[in-house]
Amino acid sequence: MTCEEAVRKLYEYLDHELDTTTAQQLDKHLEICKSCCDHFEFERKVKTLIKDSCFDEKAPQLLKDKIRDTLGFI
Ligand SMILES: [Zn+2]
Repeated sequence: MTCEEAVRKLYEYLDHELDTTTAQQLDKHLEICKSCCDHFEFERKVKTLIKDSCFDEKAPQLLKDKIRDTLGFI
């Protein structure tokens, strides 16, 4: 799997929409590829923050602060 494919599959992976085989291929790629792994961790963190905060169009200020904190680690 190439980096391009990995990034493309990332969102499906995070939404648990990937089939097992593709998910395993992506897992393997993330193990060997630092840049995709970092990207994945970042997306996962943002997604967790959004889910934890019951995100809707009117994001509460607390969530915005949390996302800004997350973005700050880059
Ligand atoms: Zn990669």
